Amino acid sequence: MKSFQYATAASPAGARHLAGDNGRFLAGGIDLLGEMKEYISQPDILVNVKALPGLDRIEASTTAWTIGANVTISQLEENAELKRVFPALQQAAAEVGSKQIRNVATVGGNLAQHSRCWYYRHRDILCLKKGGDTCYARNADNKYHSLFTGNTCISPVVSNLAVALGALDATVVVQREDKPLRWSIAQFYAKAWENPTAHNSLEPGDLILKVEVPLAQQRSAYLQVSEKSAFDWALVSCAAAAKVEGGKFSKARIVLGAVSNVPHEVQAANDLLEGKVLDDGLAEKVADLLVAKAHAHSENGYKVPIARALIRRALTSLAA
Ligand SMILES: Cc1cc2nc3c(=O)[nH]c(=O)nc-3n(C[C@H](O)[C@H](O)[C@H](O)COP(=O)(O)OP(=O)(O)OC[C@H]3O[C@@H](n4cnc5c(N)ncnc54)[C@H](O)[C@@H]3O)c2cc1C
Ligand code: SF4
Repeated sequence: MKSFQYATAASPAGARHLAGDNGRFLAGGIDLLGEMKEYISQPDILVNVKALPGLDRIEASTTAWTIGANVTISQLEENAELKRVFPALQQAAAEVGSKQIRNVATVGGNLAQHSRCWYYRHRDILCLKKGGDTCYARNADNKYHSLFTGNTCISPVVSNLAVALGALDATVVVQREDKPLRWSIAQFYAKAWENPTAHNSLEPGDLILKVEVPLAQQRSAYLQVSEKSAFDWALVSCAAAAKVEGGKFSKARIVLGAVSNVPHEVQAANDLLEGKVLDDGLAEKVADLLVAKAHAHSENGYKVPIARALIRRALTSLAA
């Protein structure tokens, strides 16, 4: 690992200042230290953001919950009231990696984690995402890659929390220089759709402060399929959230993970559920809309039937 300086920030402005031009924020370190050991990231300074005041709390109000960027995945998983109010978020947290990882990994780090593409993670391969000129996955090993992409890179977003928070209509509050930005989950990842080198819309020095989750939908669910039962990312994940009154859905949102370089959502699929009672035919039509534009590569076509099954199951669990 290349040598680096280390400092602990006492305020968001201090964190930005300390990071300078080639520094990185360090939270739990699960993703960043792995990248540094592989020479994928070589910052001059690591700025520990774990001591920033007030960012390690979960707070509930009558309209929304606020979750600080330094809240650990375990804190989400183990919060009994959060499990009752936002089951999708608790389920997504409980599926992350392993207990040891969840005890250390943070909400901010989980949302900002980088690509898991094995070409990207290989220290000797300079693929498109690392500034090279070729996407190796497109014509080679693409088993874990995207069905949808807005650019040449087909590495999917793999954050569990992004999928659940997308369905729950959450807002990510990001400090850029001296002004706070309020982004939907779609906005948080939009740059990764356009730009093959981007993992999300953060620019150097942007600091995630918190996530706000509104109380608009009363039911939610998160499901995933992985190769291993622990220590593994999802092959495909699905979160759904809606208001369900008298069996009728409203404000529904369905989001797929690990299939696109952004959390995958189709507004027409959400709209189709408005005011309707779910049955098998409707669930199939929603699934049709969500996967209609899927483009399978040589080894990832298996993701399409998994996505369809997860959509049906997630919607059925909301209706139950
Ligand atoms: C074996 C294994 C299995 C895993 N399985 C899953 C899984 O199933 N699902 C899943 O979602 N994840 C999974 N992960 C990924 C893991 O959840 C993330 O690496 C972790 O959440 C990152 O959080 P962290 O606090 O350790 O971030 P760090 O490693 O400290 O940081 C990660 C990135 O976020 C940036 N960052 C951190 N905090 C902030 C902030 N406040 N503002 C701006 N940028 C910030 C850092 O600069 C860095 O770029 C797995 C990881 C491993 C090793
Ligand atoms: S999918 Fe993206 S990260 Fe993977 S090889 Fe292609 S450009 Fe690189």
